Amino acid sequence: MSTAVSRRRFLSLSAGSLGAATAGAAWQGWIPLAPDAVAATAAEAGTGTVTTIPTFCEMCFWRCGGIASLRDGKLWKFEGNPKDPQSMGRLCPRGTGAVGAHYDPDRLRQPLMRVGERGKEEWKAVSWDEALGFVAEKMNKIKAEHGPESMALFNHGFGQRFFQHVLKSWGVINYAGSSYAQCRGARDVGYVLTYGAGVGSPEPTDIKNTDCLVLIGSHLGENMHNTQVQEFANAVERRIPIIVVDPRYSVAASKARYWLPIRPGTDLALLLAWMNVLVSEGLYDREFVGQYGHGFDRFVAEIKGYTPDWAAAETGLDAQMIRVTAREFGRRRPHSLIHPGRRVNWNGDDAQRGRAVALLNALLGNWGRRGGIYINHHVELANFPLPKYPKSDKPKADNPNFERYPFAHEAVTTGIRETTLTGKPYPIKAWWVYSTDLIHALPNQAETLKAIDQLDLMVVVDTMPSEIAGWADVVLPEDMFLERYDELLAGWGRQGWVALRQPVVAAPHEQKPAWWIAKQLAEKLGIPEAMPFKHIEEYLAYRCEKSNIDFAKLKAEGVIMGPKEPIYADDGATIEFGTPSGKVEFWSEQLQKAGFDPVPKFTPPEKPPEGYFPLITGRAPVHTFSRTQSNPLLSSLMPENELWVNSATAAKLGLKNGQVVKLKNQDGVIGQPIKVKATQRIRPDTLYMVYGFGHTNPMRKHAFMKGASAAQLNTRYKTDPLMGGTSLHANFVTFVKES
Ligand code: SF4
Repeated sequence: MSTAVSRRRFLSLSAGSLGAATAGAAWQGWIPLAPDAVAATAAEAGTGTVTTIPTFCEMCFWRCGGIASLRDGKLWKFEGNPKDPQSMGRLCPRGTGAVGAHYDPDRLRQPLMRVGERGKEEWKAVSWDEALGFVAEKMNKIKAEHGPESMALFNHGFGQRFFQHVLKSWGVINYAGSSYAQCRGARDVGYVLTYGAGVGSPEPTDIKNTDCLVLIGSHLGENMHNTQVQEFANAVERRIPIIVVDPRYSVAASKARYWLPIRPGTDLALLLAWMNVLVSEGLYDREFVGQYGHGFDRFVAEIKGYTPDWAAAETGLDAQMIRVTAREFGRRRPHSLIHPGRRVNWNGDDAQRGRAVALLNALLGNWGRRGGIYINHHVELANFPLPKYPKSDKPKADNPNFERYPFAHEAVTTGIRETTLTGKPYPIKAWWVYSTDLIHALPNQAETLKAIDQLDLMVVVDTMPSEIAGWADVVLPEDMFLERYDELLAGWGRQGWVALRQPVVAAPHEQKPAWWIAKQLAEKLGIPEAMPFKHIEEYLAYRCEKSNIDFAKLKAEGVIMGPKEPIYADDGATIEFGTPSGKVEFWSEQLQKAGFDPVPKFTPPEKPPEGYFPLITGRAPVHTFSRTQSNPLLSSLMPENELWVNSATAAKLGLKNGQVVKLKNQDGVIGQPIKVKATQRIRPDTLYMVYGFGHTNPMRKHAFMKGASAAQLNTRYKTDPLMGGTSLHANFVTFVKES
């Protein structure tokens, strides 16, 4: 195997170090629990008294409300909370599998400090006091030498708020999540440029009322955004026309009236042709465009040449099918919806593709309309009185003065990585990594490892021994979500709501909640005023009281709904656009001024070399990113990923279903072994796998080397010039023949 990660030395316990031996025992001494054993542990969690406690799920970022049941004090099951608008009383398989996350035998269980070379996985188990004392001392030294801006925070997940707060109080200005540049950022930039507002999370898509739904690269049913999946199931039941655009016959495609198996990288051509049909056949909302549109005539002139016949040649789709599908959603305007998508960083021009989706929806006039994009609401919560953050005179490291990515409105992870590598505009010497595995999430693992090499300190806080934890100096074990309090959730939706995460069961070892770790850190850093409460309950109760929310009721019910407000323009919802023109920008002067296309233009994707295929990736309904592969309940459902190969292609290459193969990418990187799934459910010129598998951290022994890592093969990437998003589908692979 060719990347630095896969060449990692396996866990070696230093014979001379008692600490290392102790730490080895910390995870190696566990009795591995087979899935049956976990189920048994849960099922046999007593037979007597059952207690239920509401909380909200963190098996992914969707944050569904659930109710945990304990039997005789032992965690037994986790189900949906009927009062919660996200779950509507039902959890997805991963949410239900949260019980497995509590019992996961691979969990981090005590603070660890590196004793050997970085990445060599030699550790000593230490007390919290020692670990945080070491970290604080090191941080203050780095601050004295380079300033607080030289520490960066990478975060994902709900506990990030505590670390963001304490680190910002200490002077950190650089913090970023992969959820932006490696996921939804490009889409939100496309919407901000068009409507003056992003769609955010959860997206206000009125799927349950739509008369026609288009999913373009959105895999509802595999990507389990619970609320949307339930509304999608309802749309299937209502037999509305569903149009799915995907090189692969996904679960969503199998429920659709139309499947458009598009050539990878050509989605923008289809979007432009669809717009062309709506305009040329008069199937757009003239009233909406007349009232709210800006630059419509120039837009029309720009898209004139993008006919279905032109797009057919680019996309590999049938021109008549492009017309027929455009008429399906055009005729049902404004009650039809092109889903904005979520993980949209595919080709490096994704903000313009996101803008094309936004423009297509604008032609349908569905903003603030039933079955389109509804106007969402949330509950404003009072703040706890906290000191102000210190000001810095330095620019943000990832995008100094917006010179790298002029339209980025959040920080860019790979921009911070770049600064760490170059030292420009100033050195980055420390990373705090919370609940995100940058080895799997960022493209080009070698660049990430080179950047880590430049650091004086890397701290990883997680529930699981992630891949990146293997490269840390200090690893801090966090409680999983059923064991902790977190910040209050003020959710956005058709009706705002407040939800409480509260402990249901005690942590099994020395794990601690994020708020506690952040508070101890603040004290050791000499800024105790940043967390001026004794216990998080005091903080939560204060915010509730000042917001007129009954904390006792919130504890008992898990969720309190906000007031009902109109969500459609027809019912009085406010429609306003925060663009420079105050209108929906069909033509964007701000893009033009910055040297970009004011209306998206199509550039054909690069062709793969002879014998190579584009590799596309996606998600599975039972796993979240790279986080759940060792969860005994979830891994029993899907222990490894497979490589989807079209049956005809497999036959031509002499590959059999179930055969184990390796892939090599255009840079010569050879991936881990993976089983072939020969299927007609994918285009003959494309390969697909679920990402997040192929773990090489030996601490993750129940997921270790199961399946292959797509991230490992993602060495080449393109960066979106508008906002810094990095492509995930820019690599070509071929098969390595082995005897
Ligand atoms: Fe949990 Fe599933 Fe909801 Fe995500 S979508 S929060 S995993 S129940």
